[in-house]
Amino acid sequence: MDVKLTAWHESTTCTWCEKDREAVTIDFADGFLRHTPLCWSCLQKAIKVRNRQPASAPTTPRSSN
Ligand SMILES: [Zn+2]
Repeated sequence: MDVKLTAWHESTTCTWCEKDREAVTIDFADGFLRHTPLCWSCLQKAIKVRNRQPASAPTTPRSSN
């Protein structure tokens, strides 16, 4: 997963929690989120949510072969 922080804001409205907070603008290389301002806690959530979604790479750690 490739996430870029493209900007830092001392105070801006977070896209997810809609509160005015210190936030960063993030850009997921795979397009999950583009130029989206998120506060630090929502950024961590976004990364967790993204990690839970099926990856495009066909890795199956529980393969019974
Ligand atoms: Zn937030």
